[in-house]
Amino acid sequence: MHGVCLFFGKVLCAVELGWLMRFRAFLHSFKEYAWEPSDEEIASLVGLDVSEIRRFDLNTSPHTPTHWLKKLGSELEGVAINRYPDTSYRALRKGLSKYLGVGEDCFVVANGGDEAFDIISKVLLDAGSEAVISSPSYSMFRIVSETMGARVVYVQRREDFADDVDGLIKAVNDRTRVIFLCNPNNPTGNAVKRSDLLRILNGCDVGVVVDEAYQEYGGESFVKLTERYSNLMVVRTFSKAFGLAGARLGYIVACEDTARLLNKVRPPNSVDVITLKLAELALEDVEWVKLRVRDTLAERDRLISEISKLRGVKVYPSVANFFLVELLERDRDEVYNEMLKRGFVLRRLEDPRLRRCLRISVGLPEDNDALLEALREVL
Ligand code: PMP
Repeated sequence: MHGVCLFFGKVLCAVELGWLMRFRAFLHSFKEYAWEPSDEEIASLVGLDVSEIRRFDLNTSPHTPTHWLKKLGSELEGVAINRYPDTSYRALRKGLSKYLGVGEDCFVVANGGDEAFDIISKVLLDAGSEAVISSPSYSMFRIVSETMGARVVYVQRREDFADDVDGLIKAVNDRTRVIFLCNPNNPTGNAVKRSDLLRILNGCDVGVVVDEAYQEYGGESFVKLTERYSNLMVVRTFSKAFGLAGARLGYIVACEDTARLLNKVRPPNSVDVITLKLAELALEDVEWVKLRVRDTLAERDRLISEISKLRGVKVYPSVANFFLVELLERDRDEVYNEMLKRGFVLRRLEDPRLRRCLRISVGLPEDNDALLEALREVL
């Protein structure tokens, strides 16, 4: 019996290897997205109960829009779940148009901002092309670019993390198809300056992506500029200020011609009818979002002011719902682990420039109080 198992094991292994050899070569050296561990995994790692785990590493909203869910629940029976969604997402685009003040045909709807980057990369990138990233920034810019076979060129941000406009323009050559900017930038928390973006848009004729995932929290939105610049694509999401990260809904704002091109390659039905209904309720209640943003920003300012008082830390200014703390006197990983042991999950950044930094997302007041107490103890 043992022999038979070994024999089949070998056959299976050979079949598997043959299959593996047909994968694309870039996967050999490709560094994938670092998936966030679940509360359960962290709890079992540090020997705590799941209820003791507090997440300050996810950059999502601490506010759950339960009143939208209740309303959705009461309207769920009327949802035509047996049919595909309206592939043109007309109702959602109408709501977005009212929300942002740009035309209904200027939207490309996607299953989260991440799918939006995927769609953009499919339109712009292929083997031999180049993507320029103002770095450090969100890892998905690199991931979608490399997946399309493009080479990534990093242009380091300035000391204060502002975009190096001259460097970005200089990095553009015949092979360049796109520049990725992030407004406000994850993980540094600073916004893109209007004058910088205009210099980039006027200085080169490649695609310019501005990721505005966190824009509801701060910084100026550049969606209106898409009316003047056909190479500008602004990516936005319901995952952050709207508190709907679990629902998966994002979109691209671009001029009508560019939106038409992007729509050619987007998956036809990647947003489900229940999420569309939820988004409709959300867009009817933007006031609630604005109030929760106001709460979060007040908590952010309180956290920054209190953490700045601690010994050996430098807190970077932020216009977003998260901020960077640099540890000047202590080993970053040691502090991270000490906090983790107490159930507080912070985010370690991999970029060499940020090797002494932890990123902290703003939580609810009582969780922020507990975080401050733990930080005072650890530092
Ligand atoms: N942009 C940035 C900068 C982000 O941090 C995230 C969230 N990880 C996204 C876009 C994408 O978010 P989603 O796919 O949930 O819309």
